Amino acid sequence: MIIAIDGPAGVGKSTVAKEVAKKLHFLYFDTGAMYRCFAYHILQKKISIQNEEAITAALVDFDFQIHHNKERRYLVNGVDVTEFIRSPEITRVVSPISSYKEVRKKMVTIQHRTGENADVVFEGRDMGTVVFPHADLKIFLTASSEIKAERRYQEMMEKFPSQAAHLSKEEILKEMEERDALDASRPISPLKKAVDSFLIDTTNFTVSEVVCEILKLYKAKCTKKRVRVGYAIIIALMKGLFFLLYRFTVYGRKHFIPGPALIAANHVSYLDPIAVAIACPGEIHFLAKEGLFSVPVLGSLIRYLNSHPVSRGTHDAKIFREAEKILKQNNKILLFPEGGRSNAQKLSPFLPGVGFLAQRTHCPIIPVYLHGTYEMWGKDKKCPKFFGKIACIFGSPLYFYDLEDKDRKEAVEEILKRTQQAIEKLKLWYESGATGSPP
Ligand code: C5P
Repeated sequence: MIIAIDGPAGVGKSTVAKEVAKKLHFLYFDTGAMYRCFAYHILQKKISIQNEEAITAALVDFDFQIHHNKERRYLVNGVDVTEFIRSPEITRVVSPISSYKEVRKKMVTIQHRTGENADVVFEGRDMGTVVFPHADLKIFLTASSEIKAERRYQEMMEKFPSQAAHLSKEEILKEMEERDALDASRPISPLKKAVDSFLIDTTNFTVSEVVCEILKLYKAKCTKKRVRVGYAIIIALMKGLFFLLYRFTVYGRKHFIPGPALIAANHVSYLDPIAVAIACPGEIHFLAKEGLFSVPVLGSLIRYLNSHPVSRGTHDAKIFREAEKILKQNNKILLFPEGGRSNAQKLSPFLPGVGFLAQRTHCPIIPVYLHGTYEMWGKDKKCPKFFGKIACIFGSPLYFYDLEDKDRKEAVEEILKRTQQAIEKLKLWYESGATGSPP
């Protein structure tokens, strides 16, 4: 789970983010400290802050580490720079240095790696907008200029008393406002509130009041969407039937992450949507042929079970809009990237739809491999067989943050390739004994 906390300088991001992480037992990642460490590296090398080429080249030997003993220590190429990165020397140069494209690319790669399959509170300027646009909770902190200057002045007095003695609050405020203006006006990843983030003005609040507010928002987000009683009953009945008839088994349920996601499964049988629906711990959504909705009873039933009609020949854009709407409402949607049902032996080539959706919505894909549904009700059979074995295997969610800089076509192709490979890996895992947890 990712919590993104953004905001300008001096609003209390670090104190609040650290406390939230502590309360929730999450990791805490101060991305500002990371940019400061790189600024230190540039100062050490005596590179001019205007020299983008040399700054980019300096990324090669930038070794950044965080050590946790009793407290968090930042190391650059083995040197402990924890205190120095907060000094006015670094503060003066960090903003222009972190505006360079290649610098951001490298830092963001590290940030993504830290966020993969982990619970982290990330603090910075572009966490909710660019780095983790699908963070589970996004917060944007602000404060009045006076209070920002006051807080920073107190911090300076604590950490650098000799230098702070020569500074007035006005000078501190001027420096912060200049830095914020630079951060907000740069073309790449500017400091900006994400449209879906919660704005908290910290001016008149204590740290613990702000933390409390964030924890409340977290709790509200985490409260699982309630499964409707009727839905639960229908699923339980189907589950019972599948257990009796098909010794139905589910693997990798832990990969069923909270929040919006695309579920991409292989498709060989009419039984597939049912198998996935009963394997999922919560409600999911489906796209179904429009014609099915006019079949008496069946139509009402599938509508109740979150199916959304797609008419033959519907313009792709309309289907995308529908799917996007479903995802925006914090739901999961099941898609069969092969289009129609295919031969059981091999995955058919994927249609680009699932790739376009993942690329556009930045949602992760949960790959799913369904085993045995073809044998029970293959494409060429009129009726299903009773008694056999069906399994549903969830794989690790796939995130595509690293493709954000790629052009659309290239990104979509890569998403499809990775999804296909993930489903093939699940097949292999199952066929070679299904031991341990699925990849
Ligand atoms: O948060 P802090 O004041 O330590 O950040 C220092 C600087 O690092 C910011 O002024 C900004 O220029 C840069 N930064 C950034 N993106 C982030 C975090 C910090 O560009 N995600």
